[in-house]
Amino acid sequence: MAKVTLPDSGILTITEGTSLKQVAEQIGAGLAKAAIAAKINGELVDLSVPVTGDINVKIITGKDSEGLEIIRHSCAHVMAEAICTIWPAAKLVYGPTVEDGFYYDIDLDEPIRPDDFPRIEEKMREIVAADKPFIRKEMSRAEALAKLADDKYKIDNVNRADSSTISFYSHGDGFEDLCRGPHVPSTGKVGSFKIMSVAGAYWHGDPTQKMLQRVYGTAWPSQKELDEYLTRLEEAKKRDHRVLGKQLDLFSFNEAGPGFAFIHSKGMIIWNEIVDFLRDVNQKYGYNEIKTPIILNEQLWHRSGHWDNYKENMYFSEIDGTGYAIKPMNCPGGCLVYKTTKHSYREFPMRVAEFGMVHRHEASGVMHGLFRVRQFTQDDAHIYCTPEQIESEIVGVIDLIFEVYRAFGFEDFVIELSTKPLKHIGSDEIWDVSTEALKGALGQKRIEYDINPGDGAFYGPKIDFHVKDCLKRSWQLGTIQLDFSMPQRFDLVYTDKDNTEKTPVMIHRAVLGSFERFIGILIEHFGGGMPLWLSPEQARVLPISEKTNDYAKVVYDRLKDAQMRSNCDLSDEKINVKIVRAYGEKIPFMLVVGPREAQSGTVNVRIRGEKENKTIEINDFLKIVKGKISNKEIDLAFEING
Ligand SMILES: [Zn+2]
Ligand SMILES: [Zn+2]
Repeated sequence: MAKVTLPDSGILTITEGTSLKQVAEQIGAGLAKAAIAAKINGELVDLSVPVTGDINVKIITGKDSEGLEIIRHSCAHVMAEAICTIWPAAKLVYGPTVEDGFYYDIDLDEPIRPDDFPRIEEKMREIVAADKPFIRKEMSRAEALAKLADDKYKIDNVNRADSSTISFYSHGDGFEDLCRGPHVPSTGKVGSFKIMSVAGAYWHGDPTQKMLQRVYGTAWPSQKELDEYLTRLEEAKKRDHRVLGKQLDLFSFNEAGPGFAFIHSKGMIIWNEIVDFLRDVNQKYGYNEIKTPIILNEQLWHRSGHWDNYKENMYFSEIDGTGYAIKPMNCPGGCLVYKTTKHSYREFPMRVAEFGMVHRHEASGVMHGLFRVRQFTQDDAHIYCTPEQIESEIVGVIDLIFEVYRAFGFEDFVIELSTKPLKHIGSDEIWDVSTEALKGALGQKRIEYDINPGDGAFYGPKIDFHVKDCLKRSWQLGTIQLDFSMPQRFDLVYTDKDNTEKTPVMIHRAVLGSFERFIGILIEHFGGGMPLWLSPEQARVLPISEKTNDYAKVVYDRLKDAQMRSNCDLSDEKINVKIVRAYGEKIPFMLVVGPREAQSGTVNVRIRGEKENKTIEINDFLKIVKGKISNKEIDLAFEING
């Protein structure tokens, strides 16, 4: 008999040789039905594997991220069979999973076109309906090479595999492919799928090699999840910040400066509101602000280490015959400011913020609207402190970060702590102290986080903050990084209690990261309909005809007196045209005024995203809306009292 320990520490005693599928059945019929694969002592295997000896077992379903990957990878096999059935000349190259799906690289002279997707999917549905088992066959490397004969792609895959035995998987006794596995138990379990696109890809990404056809697909455990994913994709297309940025006149790009954004006046309103807000928050949390030059002598970048480690991403210039570089980071300039005076432990912690514009050379192929640019402004700050102050400083930064994110309506976060990598500088002692301080701070704030072992920067551990947008996409925004390197490189010192000179701890922190990218994220998250406090135009007065233009002007003056960003549409168009225009510009409040409103001193308010209009006295409207702006409320709806 064998002892099987389950994730909840429950123990099953079973006959040796029982398959993992039968183990799942013993646990429960529901689990057996949902089972995709299993983990034995942490290693993923097929459900058909028999149990030998005492082991830990976790049954994997489509709900686990590993299960989802297995579904997608297995679906790639089904797609490969379908393609090989339709085009017998097709040679299979490599079929891994990618984010949200999978692809298969195929060598086929005849091009596969989007028109072909339906018939490939039709064939795949036949294979799925047949519910053929995935069967694993193992053999020696020599046997595998003999079996593959002249298939240069698969022979290459075998040569790249690091295992001593080579495995093949077949669907029943039919289609067979070289693969390490594991897979779903049968073709009926590959979930709901769709072929998404086809693109050219060189073998091994090498332009001197043959161009292959890369067919992309997606697969999900259920039709519902597939439909939701496709809806999210559609929604993301509608929310593309590059399209909305043009439509709403927020920013543009020009071939005169690829990767350099032109921020238009409406975009600058959003930008400046964010800056004002961050300045207030910085002040509240005890930061001072500085500004350092954009172009600095080459020597500085030798000293900072950027020359050796970051040169390919930097821009250079020459002034009076001397080499200069355009800063890719603000920290070295900040260090020079630190060094202008002597410092004592009494000044610590010293928190110094900078809205610093940096330039980094991104390859032209990876630039993407505001998301990837070559010039951007960081909401940067550096904290200089003693090792004992690390934990309380991190707590302060965490509080600040969440206060900022909530003002933008983000509520869903993922936090990661990255620890000491193999290659690092600084003593083990300082790494231990500071990693414990980071953990302590997260613990104090009762924050759940993932640990990325060994993923810290070579100069110190870090915490990264990701927010999830309304389409469940995750964006890395904030970062808190400890740095044991830069204070030494720049000989930063302070006088400690015992009158000796010591090296301060340096903490880099950014909350939003890049203003440009963050504004792009906001545009997509809100579909262009910015929160009231950020909206370039917060309200527009719309007279229903010329007869109420005078009253409309009175209302408009009141809005301006109340310092609301507003306009009055006195054009000759019909009211419906005015409404459609304001709707397209995603104005939070439209104040429609006709004779009835003029007589009663009211406005009829159309609230963005709300069905019901509200008629309200102008004074009451201003009071409510001013309150919403100063509280940075995301919700525009309001109730009228009395
Ligand atoms: Zn496979
Ligand atoms: Zn820095």
